[in-house]
Amino acid sequence: MGMQCVAPTQTLLSTPGFVDSHIHPDKTRWGSPWQSRRPAMELTDLIANDLRAQLDSKDSVEERAYALMKQAVLNGTMAMRAHVDVGSQIGMKNIHGVRSAAERLAPFLDVQIVAFPQFGLLTNPGTVELVAASLSEGADLVGGIDPQSLDGGLHGHLNAVFGLAAAHGRDVDIHLHDTGSEGLAQLRAIAQRTMAEGMQGRVTVGHAFALCDPAEPDLRPTLDALAEAGIWIATCALGADPVPDLALLESHGVNVALGSDGVRDAWSPFGTGSMVDRMHLLGYRTGALTDSDLEHCFRIATAAGAGLLGATPVQKFAGPGSLDRVEFEAGSIAELVVNRPAPLRVVREGKELTQGVLTARSSEESTTVLR
Ligand SMILES: [Zn+2]
Repeated sequence: MGMQCVAPTQTLLSTPGFVDSHIHPDKTRWGSPWQSRRPAMELTDLIANDLRAQLDSKDSVEERAYALMKQAVLNGTMAMRAHVDVGSQIGMKNIHGVRSAAERLAPFLDVQIVAFPQFGLLTNPGTVELVAASLSEGADLVGGIDPQSLDGGLHGHLNAVFGLAAAHGRDVDIHLHDTGSEGLAQLRAIAQRTMAEGMQGRVTVGHAFALCDPAEPDLRPTLDALAEAGIWIATCALGADPVPDLALLESHGVNVALGSDGVRDAWSPFGTGSMVDRMHLLGYRTGALTDSDLEHCFRIATAAGAGLLGATPVQKFAGPGSLDRVEFEAGSIAELVVNRPAPLRVVREGKELTQGVLTARSSEESTTVLR
């Protein structure tokens, strides 16, 4: 990381804030009583379980999202991209709930919301219209999900997603779980479409598990196509799911960001909302060995994510005296990634953030926020 992250004492380390580039605050049970999960064999089981959990939930989206986002802020996250469900089954209430939670944390956390058609875009009648409407009710980006396996066709799905993006002047962020040559072909189609629309640098693909199999003959040409189109890959280093070879993606010029994905929701009992924990998991899952490998994970969780989200408080970090910074007890970045301590303090605009500061802000806001 160079000298700028080395603090004056041996063990105090100042770092830029962290960026969670892919999280689902509307699904979380954070702050709510424990929820036991149902078994799931397929992606479609997880989605069905999630819908059932959402319809059964008694706590509001805003309160659950706020609890998790506050936890993230106190652990040094300064910006996040939230994928929030939109669909005919739930309408736009999740968008409204997460946007209200974000407004309560506004001075401390930049929140981008992706309108995420998890329950289908074309296969779920009414959802295209709801995604379009959500873009003027708190959502910033247009989301998508596995065009081929979950939404009934590659070109129809991309037409809808990129059509909405063009009509509303928004960026795109698509979930793609599909693996193998089918997954790679969809990635190349997304890259091609991005180029055709002149949207280089404005499209992200989440997970992109197809990029994680080095034996796939089309892997390298696909990485080159993604790099040419400036596509970002958001990885989450999740449990049993594959993770990409970070050095390989970097050598092809593909930008990578890191996110939590679901935290304590129907999809997973795991997750903490801390990007310090998440970069540790990225290092662990990618077999990081050298300080350089560990520092790469740190950069993905900070500077890279800030590049994707345009998070200026993170980008402006210039060492220990910076107005926006996180302080840890750690001798080096590499040690920080391995030890994953809680921050000693999180500083925003020169002021230390505490539970009290956040709560005061929240109650001051609650009279003006529409619910
Ligand atoms: Zn996700």
